[in-house]
Amino acid sequence: MKTAFTHTNLIDVLNGALVPDCTIVVEDGIITDISPEIPADVKHVINLEGKYVAPGFFDCHVHLVNDSLPEALSKKKTPVGYTLTALENLESLAKAGVTFARDVGDVHNIAIELREANKAGRIKLAPDLQASGQPICMTGGTSWHKLGYEADGADECRKAARLMLKNGADVVKLMGTGGVCTEGTKRGSIQLSEEELRAAVIEAHHVGAKACCHSQNIEGNQTAIRAGVDIIEHGDNVDDETVQMMVEHGTIYDATLASLTWIIEGGNKGVSPAALSKAKEAQTQCYASFRKVYDAGVLCILGSDSGTQFCKHEDSLYEMVVMVENCGLTPAEALKIGTINSAIACDVDHILGSLTVGKKAHMVVLNENPLENIRTVMSPQMTIKNGEIIWCLSGSFFTSNKSISPE
Ligand SMILES: [Zn+2]
Repeated sequence: MKTAFTHTNLIDVLNGALVPDCTIVVEDGIITDISPEIPADVKHVINLEGKYVAPGFFDCHVHLVNDSLPEALSKKKTPVGYTLTALENLESLAKAGVTFARDVGDVHNIAIELREANKAGRIKLAPDLQASGQPICMTGGTSWHKLGYEADGADECRKAARLMLKNGADVVKLMGTGGVCTEGTKRGSIQLSEEELRAAVIEAHHVGAKACCHSQNIEGNQTAIRAGVDIIEHGDNVDDETVQMMVEHGTIYDATLASLTWIIEGGNKGVSPAALSKAKEAQTQCYASFRKVYDAGVLCILGSDSGTQFCKHEDSLYEMVVMVENCGLTPAEALKIGTINSAIACDVDHILGSLTVGKKAHMVVLNENPLENIRTVMSPQMTIKNGEIIWCLSGSFFTSNKSISPE
């Protein structure tokens, strides 16, 4: 069946432009036409009444099994407990306008199982998914206490990567340095070595998968880049030499800017003093590093780190607000990072990431023009996947907007 979404103000993220008052025609989940007219053979019409329609957004760094509570309150759960949390988080992401999420810190293979259930249509309200399985860390390294899979030496790292890939990982997640959230680890301290990282990266590349690496300082970033890691997660502190290396190696940058803001804002609500001071130290450096990397032309993508302390999946797209308000990007630049750039990093840009004829109709309906007011991405009105409305803000005009038959 053909569906026409009429009277849409379409956000063309490829050109940072608005295409006013057009009709998006969808057939079998694919955009088949974008034009000023409603084609005569369309039976099912949804009038969006001048609202703004952006491509569905990406979040390339989430932790579905985590509940965003401060570390002190966030307990280990049974697999069922983790699964319930993950299902709630999937719903939050979909309602936030995220139609594609990449989980990079799983346990019990839950995100991978949910990815498959979602593909089979068994989950009603969720973004499309990719997942890494457990992050691979050194003994006692970042994330070991809950999600991490401990491996030491190149052989164990090779085996760990093979195991995650065997379990169905789309991407291999490595922990290169100490982090903010794992108590007892020193932020930025070197953890997996270049040799260990390389062994895992090679395994990922053998099957056409990418490897991403948690790193929070210059040495960690450079070690990961030399090891052939495709995506630096966080990065935090990036100097000129590192930027140059990223350009030369084609390394992708997933800065996760907003997560530190949430930790700092939650400072009086149970964040440990150690995590708070680590977050404060990181924040300024982070913004400056992101700007430097972005200006050098490195592919930057959107990752929220949702699931870490106070960083909720429902606030995923705040990341774009920080890019604009704290790092000085234009809304058009931030929107590109949240859509097509992230699609490229997840190897799905041929089917997602822009509202283009031939791509999947994953769309988000917004009240205002995000090219003028980026904060509108924080309050989406409707989420559409494959041309189907999967969520609509209760009480909004859409709920009474019956589809009509022109006949
Ligand atoms: Zn993370």
